[in-house]
Amino acid sequence: MRKTLYLKFILAYIIFGVFSFIMVATFASNMTMEQLKREKAETLYKEATLIANTYAADLYTNDTSLDTVKHELDALDVYLDSIIWIINPSGRMVIDSSKPLNLDDEVIIEGFDPTIMSGAYYTTGDFFGSFDDEKLSVLAPITTGYKVRGYVVIHTSMAGMMKSKESLLSISYILMVLIFLLSMIILIFFTEFVYVPIRRITDATEQYAAGNMHYEFTIDSDDEIGYLAAALQYMASEISKAEDNQKKFVANVSHDFRSPLTSIKGYLEAMIDGTIPEDKHEKYLGILLNETERLTKLTNSLLTLNNLNVRGVVLEKSVFDINQVIRDTAASAEVQLSAKEIRLDLVLTGDELYVEADMGKIQQVLYNLLDNAIKFSHTGGVIKIETTEKHSKVFISVKDNGIGIPKDSLKLIWDRFYKTDLSRGKDKKGTGLGLSIAKEIISAHDEHINVISTEGVGSEFIFSLPIVDDEDDY
Ligand code: ADP
Repeated sequence: MRKTLYLKFILAYIIFGVFSFIMVATFASNMTMEQLKREKAETLYKEATLIANTYAADLYTNDTSLDTVKHELDALDVYLDSIIWIINPSGRMVIDSSKPLNLDDEVIIEGFDPTIMSGAYYTTGDFFGSFDDEKLSVLAPITTGYKVRGYVVIHTSMAGMMKSKESLLSISYILMVLIFLLSMIILIFFTEFVYVPIRRITDATEQYAAGNMHYEFTIDSDDEIGYLAAALQYMASEISKAEDNQKKFVANVSHDFRSPLTSIKGYLEAMIDGTIPEDKHEKYLGILLNETERLTKLTNSLLTLNNLNVRGVVLEKSVFDINQVIRDTAASAEVQLSAKEIRLDLVLTGDELYVEADMGKIQQVLYNLLDNAIKFSHTGGVIKIETTEKHSKVFISVKDNGIGIPKDSLKLIWDRFYKTDLSRGKDKKGTGLGLSIAKEIISAHDEHINVISTEGVGSEFIFSLPIVDDEDDY
């Protein structure tokens, strides 16, 4: 299959060659012959007219003798390499330059009819059966006193013209072969710039299809084929990245599920075989409950992320007061806050601030950010949630003075399952999915979420939402 394009091109090339040859052999041959005939006939016709107006006319007005005219015509015959006749309108031969004068032997051209030329000044053939071979014959009338007295007919052999045609045609054939060879350049260009790159691309697609996404190939051109190759390589690298991510994801999920399950299994076995005495069961059941909570949280986060990805995030947008949502989220975190003696400051712009977004999902973002802020704050810390209005957007910031994020981790915290080394001690229940969920939700709103953080000082997460100027319109 792979060779067909090349074969097709070669076939087209051969067909081109054969057609060119046929064209030259037929059309060019006919046209050359026609042109040669026309040129020869023109010259001969001029001669014939000249003879008709001079010697031949004189002959009919008796100003000159037959012998004199015959003599002149003989000379011209040699010069023109032709046979010159003077004939009467009835077809009777008066002078034939190819034969001596013989008045006794009357020669009549049977069926001679000057009208057969019908306007043309030359004809080809055997001229009313007078010759065995093909002749080109021109005919010029001899007129004296507005009367046609006879005709001057000049016959020349077609063989000479044939020869000229052959030599002209052989030049055409040589030129054609040269052009054909030169057009091989196109074949070379096609091979180098189209066929070879396409073969490379085909090889690469086969490799990719077989799962070898790291297969590399180079095409050094910046035309459409180069672009196609680059696009293909980009596609392969993206698929390969996606595959790697998928593997990492499965590995992370399995790991995060396995550790709580192992500890649950361990505690349960210890309780059953009596290693953990019955009076301590309550304490360990509390731990088991914690672990199952962690598993539930992990499963819920995974489901949320999956829904965000699979459905391309379907948003149920509405107009709502973001200040109220912040107040509600703060209230729901009261127990956690007081457990760590954290003060929460709300610095909200205006009494009400209307935005258009998916309220449930924004609530989730706020919850995740506040949950992190509490988790990574020291006891007695301060958390500030602030809204700022700017360019018809509201910027919502959740700021803490907790452990902060190391500089190297700043870009990675949005990745699924990523947790900084610093945070591991502080938060054993963390899944590393909260921020990736927040980012997916904010991106789905075509908005942005960013972080400013200094290790040991604190962190500030800021995201934007579109403000609705007049909520009464809704
Ligand atoms: P987790 O469930 O572990 O909190 P997240 O995706 O919400 O998962 O956060 C990822 C990591 O980013 C956290 O494990 C932590 O290391 C870091 N991080 C997030 N928020 C803060 C914060 N406010 N202060 C310090 N580190 C944070």
